[in-house]
Amino acid sequence: MTTPQHHKVFIIGSGPAGYTAGLYTARADLNPYMATGIQPGGQLTTTTDVENYPGFPEGVMGPDMMVLFEKQAVRFGLEVVYKMVDKVDLSARPFRLWEDDGTEHTADTVIVATGATAKYLNIPGEQEYLGRGVSACATCDGFFFRDQEIVVVGGGDTAMEEANFLTKFASKVYVVHRRDTLRASKIMQERALANEKIEFLWNTVITEVKGDGQGVVGVDLLNTQTEERRHLPVTGYFSAIGHKPNTDLFKGILDMDDVGYLKIDAPSTRTSIDGVFAAGDVADPTYRQAITAAGLGCSAAIDAERWLENQE
Ligand code: FAD
Ligand code: NAP
Repeated sequence: MTTPQHHKVFIIGSGPAGYTAGLYTARADLNPYMATGIQPGGQLTTTTDVENYPGFPEGVMGPDMMVLFEKQAVRFGLEVVYKMVDKVDLSARPFRLWEDDGTEHTADTVIVATGATAKYLNIPGEQEYLGRGVSACATCDGFFFRDQEIVVVGGGDTAMEEANFLTKFASKVYVVHRRDTLRASKIMQERALANEKIEFLWNTVITEVKGDGQGVVGVDLLNTQTEERRHLPVTGYFSAIGHKPNTDLFKGILDMDDVGYLKIDAPSTRTSIDGVFAAGDVADPTYRQAITAAGLGCSAAIDAERWLENQE
């Protein structure tokens, strides 16, 4: 049996949070090790222009930005492997982690940066036009829909927040909801219902996103009460039916909220297990931005460094 490779810092996930944690811990001479998971670079590799990350006055393509994140961290010594972590034992130290090819590692500290995944309806056309009219992030992409008509699907707080925000740019926002009552909190509902640029389409589901090869040109709707079908011409489609934090690996191991976001002892990034830190969307139900994920990655690195110092 081979002896597992030991690390002072094991980073799970390679989005802005993971790479920033890698950069900081590498520059602190902690020889960090990162398993990227199946989406090297994280969520931003699924989008086109990122225009709200400071330091890129002309904007930057999401995948290009994540290559830069990786290069910068690797330059200082981050070791990156393109594997998933599929099992962890955090019950005793050193912590034990297994990659999907069965390789076992041990670690003094673990930084969990596994992100969250926006939920989509999984209807025809949706993934095809992702980044070309289909989005799950109004803060990120709303700007591209100035004076256009767009549709938002969902009836929760996210949908209300996204719809309201999108009216800053769009000429009209349709909110398609599968029922006739909203799940959103009262105040968010009231704000959206009072917004003259928002029209609600109740008891309605979207059955297909239509495009012309370049971008979105509309969505097909079905009224579940009347069974009436119609086409709604819009150039943008925002999925706002919630996010799923990537925390299945930690169920029953780390404390999480009802949705599955890891609980951290803010403003630190400490989780419920001493020596395990969490950063980015996986521990952030509120902001979920690249810059906030990177910020938390920095915090987690500093927390891990100080924690290791205290152990010594
Ligand atoms: P993520 O980027 O989600 O990365 C998670 C990482 O964890 C991935 O590398 C994944 O492979 C890895 N992982 C998961 N499970 C495992 C495992 N078991 N083992 C190993 N690795 C694992 N934000 C902005 O600020 N500006 C924008 O313009 C913008 N546009 C966006 C457009 C889209 C379409 C989407 C979906 C999001 C957008 N966001 C934007 C949000 C931004 O992408 C996220 O806030 C940010 O990526 C979160 O970073 P993160 O490091 O926490 O996690
Ligand atoms: P959510 O509360 O779970 O709402 C998801 C919405 O999407 C629901 O209306 C649901 O419909 C709909 N939906 C889910 N799957 C669907 C499908 N397959 N087809 C059609 N519709 C579907 O999620 P959320 O809005 O992301 O909110 C998550 C948490 O974050 C909540 O606790 C919320 O309060 C909080 N949050 C707060 C704020 C704020 O306070 N500013 C902002 C955003 C989020 P049904 O209603 O029919 O189930």
